[in-house]
Amino acid sequence: MFHREAVPEYGILLIIDVQNDFCEGGSIARKGGRKIVPIINDLMKQDRIHLVVATQDWHPKNHISFASSHMDGERVGTEPLQGEIAPFKRALVRSPNTVSYAPGTGKVDKMLWPDHCVAGSIGSGFYYQQSGDLWLDYKNIDLIYRKGTDSELDAYDVLWDEIGRPSALHFLFESMIRNMDNDLAFYIVGIATDGCVAYTADRLVQLISSVKEQHEPKVCMERGCFGDPKASLDKKVTVKVVSNACVGTSEEEHQNALERLKTTSIEVVEHIIPFPHNCGRAAELRKDGLTEAEITYIIEEGK
Ligand SMILES: [Zn+2]
Repeated sequence: MFHREAVPEYGILLIIDVQNDFCEGGSIARKGGRKIVPIINDLMKQDRIHLVVATQDWHPKNHISFASSHMDGERVGTEPLQGEIAPFKRALVRSPNTVSYAPGTGKVDKMLWPDHCVAGSIGSGFYYQQSGDLWLDYKNIDLIYRKGTDSELDAYDVLWDEIGRPSALHFLFESMIRNMDNDLAFYIVGIATDGCVAYTADRLVQLISSVKEQHEPKVCMERGCFGDPKASLDKKVTVKVVSNACVGTSEEEHQNALERLKTTSIEVVEHIIPFPHNCGRAAELRKDGLTEAEITYIIEEGK
């Protein structure tokens, strides 16, 4: 799949953080995480998708975003937090990395979370249900990008890190926007709509406009680009957030984020799976409270 294709529009599916810790049963579970899995699995198989990229939050054990990293003072260069600090709260924490924060204080104002997505743990894996009948179809993923791997930095968008350094995905997408002849469509799905999904959609729009503004032959040659420098000038590059393949920190936050995205150049779309299954098994599964997307997945995969 990972090659240029002679299609008018080249579709890139960007799956954000569909990991066990962000789904039901995980340490920062978002309600509804598992419901989007069959919809994403179906999207991966669509003809209009030519490249599937999936991201994973992937932290070392003492990551700066973990509340636990700041409680006992064991973390190098860190003072223990005073008093009670529950996860999901903002706090000023010491960090050796003060490049872009509160200069001179040595402290960073951070959102703190329960431990999550520790590199290589079950929680960091792509979603799978312990009973074994539903999982993210990782075999259809072309490229995995792991973020938040630096113990001192968090990563809410997948194109730049917290101190403004471009990521590997940034360079990949920049090169595709600059050099491919096709129109491009980015489809963004995953967790959480009001977090990494929205940040990434906003940042993609930023990347697209910066590439288009800089797209002059001189700049192109300086950067070592040997494609037709005018090739992408008139190219259409769209960013779409697939609303029913995302979940937010809450339903309200999900809706608020979508409403805000609709006021930008980002398109909010839905992916509708046809539901042809009216067999007895489907009826049984409906009685068990499964969604139509889950029923379709289970029956079509012969589970
Ligand atoms: Zn994280």
